[in-house]
Amino acid sequence: MPAVLISEVGPRDGLQSVKATMATAHKCAWITALHAAGLREIEVGSFVPAALLPQLADTAEVVRHARLLPGLTVLALVPNRRGAEAALQAGVHKLTVPVSASEAHSMANVRRTRAQMVEALRAIDALRREIAPQVGLEVGVSTAFGCTLQGAVPEDEVIALAEQLAAAGADEIGLSDTTGMANPAQVKRLFTRLRGAIGDQAGAAHLHNTRGLGLANCLAAYEVGVRAFDASQGGLGGCPYAPGASGNVVTEDLVFMFEAMGVPTGVDLPRLIAAREALRAGLPDEPIHGMTPEAGLPLGFQSAR
Ligand code: ZN
Repeated sequence: MPAVLISEVGPRDGLQSVKATMATAHKCAWITALHAAGLREIEVGSFVPAALLPQLADTAEVVRHARLLPGLTVLALVPNRRGAEAALQAGVHKLTVPVSASEAHSMANVRRTRAQMVEALRAIDALRREIAPQVGLEVGVSTAFGCTLQGAVPEDEVIALAEQLAAAGADEIGLSDTTGMANPAQVKRLFTRLRGAIGDQAGAAHLHNTRGLGLANCLAAYEVGVRAFDASQGGLGGCPYAPGASGNVVTEDLVFMFEAMGVPTGVDLPRLIAAREALRAGLPDEPIHGMTPEAGLPLGFQSAR
């Protein structure tokens, strides 16, 4: 049994950040390869107007493909009720809603205040309870560790927002280092406070490697009890609305860290590394990162069990 959940966000967070559009057939082949490697939660796209994110305009089709993969939780990002309606129609298993802890980032990203986003979340929850109560609803609190537009984000505000979101109907609330500003001490402090405030509704860690602290921050979160982690194959992606930010935590490196520590992830590393070929085939001109794939697995490496 996996001791941690690795949630692959490359097909959404990654693909929305690159200029090139991956063809639908390539997306489906990549997701199939990720699933074959043992990943059991994949964020496959987002339901936003195609004019804003043409790279993800085919998300409904990708969802229909991903739903055929056994045991896979198919996740899609939705910014509002209209997006949620389309996602539920397409048949996702789980919705994820981004809500910024920074008011400046919220306005830049979705042109809504934080308070308006809490209301949007309430509307999304009402909709899923009405038409698809089995579907999960999570929130990723973006810019929870700092914002490139406003600088520091007060921790009290992050926790107060998480409490409002929990009350507004989210099943889980995670914290995202959208801009790559987090450090391990801060990660420990904030996730500990999050659990203290909302208990089991405390959700995943979405951490970036912008300043090289991605894995250190994941480990810090693990040490204070976080068991769900977002990561992106090849480190693809970042946030297009956060100037200078790039670099999700590399799934391959994160899986290697946990497996080498004896913490089972359910992911087969050689097959995960092989899945990079499917990514490369769909995005031949994009740089693909990862230190474990570059170095190879150490002699005698064994998966955790
Ligand atoms: Zn990210």
